[in-house]
Amino acid sequence: MSDNCPVRVRIAPSPTGDPHVGTAYIALFNMVFARRHEGRFILRIEDTDQARSTLQSEEAIYRSLKWLGLTWDEGPDVGGEYGPYRQSERKETYLEYARRLIESGHAYHCFCDDERVNRVRAEQRDLTGVGRYDGHCRAIALDEARARVAAGEQSVVRLKMPQDGETVLDCPLRGPIAYPNSQQNDQVLLKTDGFPTYHLANVVDDHLMEITHVIRAEEWIPSTPKHLVLYRSFGWRPPTFIHMPILRNRDRSKISKRRNPTSLDYYRRAGILPEAMVNFLANLGYSFGDDIEKFTLAEFIEGFAIERVSLGGPVFDLDKLDWLNGLYLRDLSHEDLLDRVMTEVLSRERLAKIVPLIRERIVRLEEFVPKTEYFFSGALDYDPALLVHKKLTREQVQGALAGAVERLDSVLDWRAETLEETLREFAAEVGIKAGPLFMGVRVAVTGRTASPGLFETMEVLGRPICLFRVRDALRKLTESNGKDTAPSDRPG
Ligand code: GLU
Repeated sequence: MSDNCPVRVRIAPSPTGDPHVGTAYIALFNMVFARRHEGRFILRIEDTDQARSTLQSEEAIYRSLKWLGLTWDEGPDVGGEYGPYRQSERKETYLEYARRLIESGHAYHCFCDDERVNRVRAEQRDLTGVGRYDGHCRAIALDEARARVAAGEQSVVRLKMPQDGETVLDCPLRGPIAYPNSQQNDQVLLKTDGFPTYHLANVVDDHLMEITHVIRAEEWIPSTPKHLVLYRSFGWRPPTFIHMPILRNRDRSKISKRRNPTSLDYYRRAGILPEAMVNFLANLGYSFGDDIEKFTLAEFIEGFAIERVSLGGPVFDLDKLDWLNGLYLRDLSHEDLLDRVMTEVLSRERLAKIVPLIRERIVRLEEFVPKTEYFFSGALDYDPALLVHKKLTREQVQGALAGAVERLDSVLDWRAETLEETLREFAAEVGIKAGPLFMGVRVAVTGRTASPGLFETMEVLGRPICLFRVRDALRKLTESNGKDTAPSDRPG
């Protein structure tokens, strides 16, 4: 990589779960940096965690970034000269580079089983405060290691961390940070199944894809010294690392879906305009100057300077998002606003799913709107006492809903049958009757004690809004605790 080489940046999301606002945040800054410097913006899918990665989640990443108007120049869906851009299709490449590191003496086969590794790490943690592997297999001669591998013995490949000296991470925003090498683990690079870990795949790909600047979230800082050692071990020049501040809740904790929705799908469903979301994300940790808070993506690109990123933990403040969204809504002409309502809220596609659910429950067309209101709204207003079935205590319902939302969160295949199966299994496991549990969930997702079939309703409502409403129900229960209602008010 020469000093004058064109800027090439990337995002490298792992396709697990819902498309995250943090992915959009990092994508935005990378894209803007690339456009500002007339470089290339690459989307790489890091799906080496085979158990958790899904194609559905990968597609959700493309869909939601496109919704925001973000575009990339290379990626699994658009191709490019540096492909494949999906790590699961590059397994041979990682094997080859792991082999090179072993041959050059920078990595080694480790035959220790999980039991030993866990024990040693616990011992080391007690002894030194850092739970590291003790380097036991470093001493095995390469020939012997090869023979054992050839004989079918299971092994991982570990990085041989230098044991003295330090590795310095020099970030343009944070200045140099020195890490003593002796504190670092002999990181696993290749797992027993031959798949690389994040560290190996990430470094090999960033190098082969000629990435010049790695702009990623602060949470990756602790991994970066290992990455720098990897670059050094390969004899490669590392890219410039820029770690963006982590997005936080109001109480300064890292944003999490337990506090605020983090799925981009939720915000779209909640009627946030994509241009407002982009503007909101741009304002997080970035000062456009002169107290200007509303600006377009084009203006952002034109004025962008990475040095203007501030590190003081930007707060993902939903009031601010609403305020900006309101400004953008009011900028729309009547005609444009009407178009948005027709595509995002009252689309024929959505109505077509609701009609079969509601047809048996109305005798006049005029009932359609009042009886289906919860299909179109966001947070619901109802008496939290309705959540508590008379056969259960408030604590039981709280526990049940908290457990149910965890289970529902793992359902990516959001269909009525899967949802029913999941909740029935959950009820059986924790030993509560399905009926009272379903009633709690029904009230949480519809605000009512009577609705069309619960699971069909949940399917049509969709994952983001259902998860949001069940979490909201839990919050309502917690907040209303103490203001108890007589059992006769409860549904039976
Ligand atoms: N796969 C990592 C993630 O999910 C990529 C981190 C990085 O950008 O290096 O965010």
